[in-house]
Amino acid sequence: MKRSLWNKIGLALLALLVLAGAACAAGVDNDWGGAKAKYVFMFIGDGMGLQQVNAAEVYNGSINRTGGEPAIKKLALSGLPVQGMITTYSTNSFITDSAPAATSLASGFKTDNGVIGMDPAKKRKFTTVAQMVRAKGMKVGVLTSVSLNHATPASYYASVPSRNDYYGIGEQLIDSGFDYFAGGGIHQHTGKDKDRKDLYEVAKEKGYQVLRTREEILAAKPGTKIIAVNPVLDGSNAMPYDMDKTEKELSLAEFTRKGIELLDNPNGFFMMVEGGKIDWACHANDAAAAILDTFAFDAAVMEAIAFAEKHPDETLIVVVGDHETGGMSIGFAGTQYETFFEKIAHQKESYESFDKKITEFRKGAEKTFEKMAPMIEESFGLRTATAEERKALEEKAKAGDDAARIALSMTLSDLELGELRHAFEDSMLEKKERARDEATFLLYGGYEPLSVKITHILNRKAGIGWTSYAHTGIPVPIFAKGLGSELFAGYYDNTDVAWKTMSILGVR
Ligand SMILES: [Zn+2]
Repeated sequence: MKRSLWNKIGLALLALLVLAGAACAAGVDNDWGGAKAKYVFMFIGDGMGLQQVNAAEVYNGSINRTGGEPAIKKLALSGLPVQGMITTYSTNSFITDSAPAATSLASGFKTDNGVIGMDPAKKRKFTTVAQMVRAKGMKVGVLTSVSLNHATPASYYASVPSRNDYYGIGEQLIDSGFDYFAGGGIHQHTGKDKDRKDLYEVAKEKGYQVLRTREEILAAKPGTKIIAVNPVLDGSNAMPYDMDKTEKELSLAEFTRKGIELLDNPNGFFMMVEGGKIDWACHANDAAAAILDTFAFDAAVMEAIAFAEKHPDETLIVVVGDHETGGMSIGFAGTQYETFFEKIAHQKESYESFDKKITEFRKGAEKTFEKMAPMIEESFGLRTATAEERKALEEKAKAGDDAARIALSMTLSDLELGELRHAFEDSMLEKKERARDEATFLLYGGYEPLSVKITHILNRKAGIGWTSYAHTGIPVPIFAKGLGSELFAGYYDNTDVAWKTMSILGVR
């Protein structure tokens, strides 16, 4: 009797171990046994590796420094209680692009670079966590600072062989039936050759309200499906960089707050919010634009944190990067063991905004560096000085003059000035006249030469290095808070993020 009871207990324990083993493939626990989450926020910082997070923290610590030891000032997202790390590789490269990265986060399956929501053979379509929760009656929101049919948001509702099929993705956006799309617009909404039916019209026919002004968007009420487009868009139908934003626009945080209001209902909601231009700024090697967009992304996370405080037992917040962009580093050969991130604060506009000024300047009659130099100083704080001027500044700085010390720190060295003049000459050529050799690509990565050179010099002065105009393959951080968040601690793969989220939502 006693012995058979022990046998039964032994068998039961064995069965539990086998089950646990199946649930923890490769030692990763993706199964949640607790209550199911009613509200889930998935924040994706595109191109946001640990460097991008830390650069924002160091910047915060530098501009608020009042003497004493250097101290970082954490972001809301990096202050979330659970942290982990994920691998990001795709099925055909250690360096992923945004399409397979977000496909992994949304569906739990890897695929090739460039593919969205399908296997590498481009035959099988994956089902995403957003589609699963919608099928069980939850509301769904997809928000981004880039276009709504860009790779990351698309990976939550579309399955296409190529991320460049913007029109096809846009059609699937409308057919998704998701309740709230917000941020950028629909890229190529009349097709690549502008010969297709306008997708905004198709959306209206299928029951979407398309809102385009700040007033309309802020006044929106729950009840209809909504596409809320920022009043100002760039050439790619993305929102402008946060540092270039005007008053008539909305911030990612405002779109998120509105989303919470529109999506809140008794069945709960799933919301994906992408900070998409952190990635774009890092592709262009513009640290200031990346850091300020990281703050804008962090402000959106704060909206979710405020909501979670009201629903602590039902809400999960996950914040993750999809890959790192730019090979950014805190540290540069020329500045060795020091950083001067406060110099970044002199930058008043993004590279993208300054590109437009260069284009105008190129059309003008007097195309000299001397005429351009004051514009560079105005927008980036970088200044030129003659030998005498420099000497005078040095003397004043030595005597304790703070303004002279700052002016000196922003003065271009002979090496920097030479590089800048060279880039200026390149930028004054029409695009088709420019060199396309390897050396030119390494210098400017296909961007406007002068803008890239300016941000490179300013970033170097601050102690920031860049190694690429594309993505890198190193793992990225993940942060979580709330119901089921403990599952996100550890080092695992980007596909595990989807399995964990699905389990906590009770859809797998
Ligand atoms: Zn990406």
